[in-house]
Amino acid sequence: MQGPAAAPLPTDARITTAGAAQPRMGGSAWRRLWPWAGPGRGDRHLGPLKLLVLQSTGFCNLDCRYCYLADRHVKSRMDPALVEPIVRKTIDSGFVKGGFSLLWHAGEPLTLPPAYYEEAMARMQAGRAASTCSDTDIAVHIQTNGVLINAEWCDFIRRQGVRIGISVDGPADLHDRMRVTRSGGGTHAATLAGIKRLQDAGIPFNTITVLTAEALERPEDLLRFYVDAGIRTVGFNVEEIEGENPTSSLSRVTPEAYAQFLKRFLELSRRTPGAPRVREFDAMHRLITGGGDTVVGQFTPFSIVSVDHLGNFGTFSPELLDVKSDRYGDFLIGNFKTDDYASAVRSRKYRRLNRDIAKGVAACRQSCSYFRLCGGGAPANKYFEHGSFEATETLYCRLTKKTVADVVLDDLERQLA
Ligand code: SF4
Repeated sequence: MQGPAAAPLPTDARITTAGAAQPRMGGSAWRRLWPWAGPGRGDRHLGPLKLLVLQSTGFCNLDCRYCYLADRHVKSRMDPALVEPIVRKTIDSGFVKGGFSLLWHAGEPLTLPPAYYEEAMARMQAGRAASTCSDTDIAVHIQTNGVLINAEWCDFIRRQGVRIGISVDGPADLHDRMRVTRSGGGTHAATLAGIKRLQDAGIPFNTITVLTAEALERPEDLLRFYVDAGIRTVGFNVEEIEGENPTSSLSRVTPEAYAQFLKRFLELSRRTPGAPRVREFDAMHRLITGGGDTVVGQFTPFSIVSVDHLGNFGTFSPELLDVKSDRYGDFLIGNFKTDDYASAVRSRKYRRLNRDIAKGVAACRQSCSYFRLCGGGAPANKYFEHGSFEATETLYCRLTKKTVADVVLDDLERQLA
């Protein structure tokens, strides 16, 4: 996910038993609601719902060269009143287990003012209060390019306890090559000014860097940048072939070259005070050493639900939200103004998508020795790279699953030795 503001998707979360994967309701109640998809019914599990992505606006003030969003130039705005039924229906779906993250994303959220989110947060609270489980934990996140962060935003973020993710691609020349304004100007200075305002206000934040072929040649410069900027955590996304971005500089990069980059970064980090933690290393380390037998990811129905500014929603990969397709028309399975999760699960569109994505997962299970650590990959990448959800390996999984797993396993073995 690398759009105008690449989102902090939870990396695939391990759950320990098939039973623990089910939503928070008794087994029999769950089967009454979803009789065709319950445990032991030969279908895949639905949820648990971990991430609700809300597109407050599809508009972005930047025009990043690798962005997958087609309508990022169109000004749009979700009615904040819609947040109440979205949250209520989400909790009442039975797919939530304890809590979930609500992420404002899929455009640049900060192009709408803090007052918009004040109202949206009030609607969110109203939706939770009106639901059948009013103590559900909701962690609110905003993923932003950071250029609009000012004192007013810092006050809002601190007051509301919002978690912030900033998209920054390392040193100025790397960042400004891809993350540009509509007139082609660089945005590094403005993003760093936003980061500085957060730091001055004592607000913690995470960062995401989209790695291109050029970045892989510069592990030292990237690390130096994070240390100098006081950045303590980073998620390495890769430049993906998705939506409006039909090519990636990483297509010409071998897994060995990517592994070299990761190894070098890891090795340098170990001897550099103030080096950031890397999301991919930590997540893979947990997967490898954590035990358990089931991985939840973008392929898991209703683990992620994405909602556009009109209330249309879909599940599986968030990047499918705004996409049109010859084969499927679109990837939407309902609209929260009139539909809910039960009607979405019954819809022909969902059942077709679920069936095709399940075939791809089954093919992965058959053919891939990394399946236990991956679970079946990202449907959007399979679709955008191969034109089919039934495909297996992608550029994305080759780099972010297989290569990361190899590097972390190798590192663990070295440490043991
Ligand atoms: S082929 Fe790729 S998507 Fe499929 S299980 Fe292996 S690593 Fe995952």
